[in-house]
Amino acid sequence: MKATLLYGAGDVRVEEVPDPVIQEPTDAIVRVVRTCICGSDLHPYHNKSPEAVGRQIGHEFLGVVEETGAAVTGLRRGDLVVSSFSYQDNTCDFCREGLQTSCRVGGFFSAAQAEFVRVPQASGTLVALPGVGEDSPLLPSLLTLADVYGTGYHAARTGRVGPGSTVTVIGDGAVGLLAVLSARALGAERIILMGRHRARTDLGREFGATDVVAERGEEGVAAVRELTHGDGTHAVLEAVGYLEAYEQALGVVRPGGVISRVGVPQYAQGPVGRALFGGNVTLTGGPAPVRNYIDALLPGVLDGTVEPGRVFDRVVSLPEVPDGYRAMDRREALKVLVRP
Ligand SMILES: [Zn+2]
Repeated sequence: MKATLLYGAGDVRVEEVPDPVIQEPTDAIVRVVRTCICGSDLHPYHNKSPEAVGRQIGHEFLGVVEETGAAVTGLRRGDLVVSSFSYQDNTCDFCREGLQTSCRVGGFFSAAQAEFVRVPQASGTLVALPGVGEDSPLLPSLLTLADVYGTGYHAARTGRVGPGSTVTVIGDGAVGLLAVLSARALGAERIILMGRHRARTDLGREFGATDVVAERGEEGVAAVRELTHGDGTHAVLEAVGYLEAYEQALGVVRPGGVISRVGVPQYAQGPVGRALFGGNVTLTGGPAPVRNYIDALLPGVLDGTVEPGRVFDRVVSLPEVPDGYRAMDRREALKVLVRP
């Protein structure tokens, strides 16, 4: 099959690799119908040291079940399914607590930008989409359930966003924009989106942002404070992952508020002393247990109440994936959808 391999920073290639096969009775093989490039794929795209052997990449996909292991239940060949970016049994104690990313037999996909994917723990990982066809216009929105929609929703949930909340969202990538959409759905009264790409922040306004702050750093903090009478906001949803974004979050959080980070931190150290302590600020967030949210978010996608798939603004074929990485890296594309 064709698969995307990362050889080093800036070096993505699409090459032939062996087809995946069932290895455990709990596995399934899925033929990928749609996959995509994630903002978090850009981190290794920037940082990875060059290697002679490429490694597969990608963690968001929906597709058709081709084969199931002997222990797989609830799925059959031909089912159109969406996967979470983590795999999990969905039955252990962590899974039952809604923390599927800490599943005792779980892990994370890293080979989904390909024609086929081996899915461990298939029964707990794949969600069938009955009545949805391979050519459905809903596919882009359904694909966001694999990661970015669930991750934005996780930010809002762990940020304790509810009716009347004031919220700052840091970052105008797909996750930030879907954190806006989620905060709106959870009843936030005011949503300040910090981002400087006009096309993206315009979509953020359509998703529910009430204000946009294009400045960053101290200027950005001052702008949010001015909008909130000096207080900051109850929730700060940080969807970037750089230290500067975290520091910005510290600057705009209201006393008693919550900072939720869902951008994968690209730093090992940052201020957690008096910056958090003084204002009784809660720091939370982490990899989103999106499997926990799919059941809740799916109906709104199916009935068209929400259109999270609007974050996709470019479509490429599998051989064109390297162009997709370049386009996202140069901020020419917000999020790239791949049709293998
Ligand atoms: Zn589990």
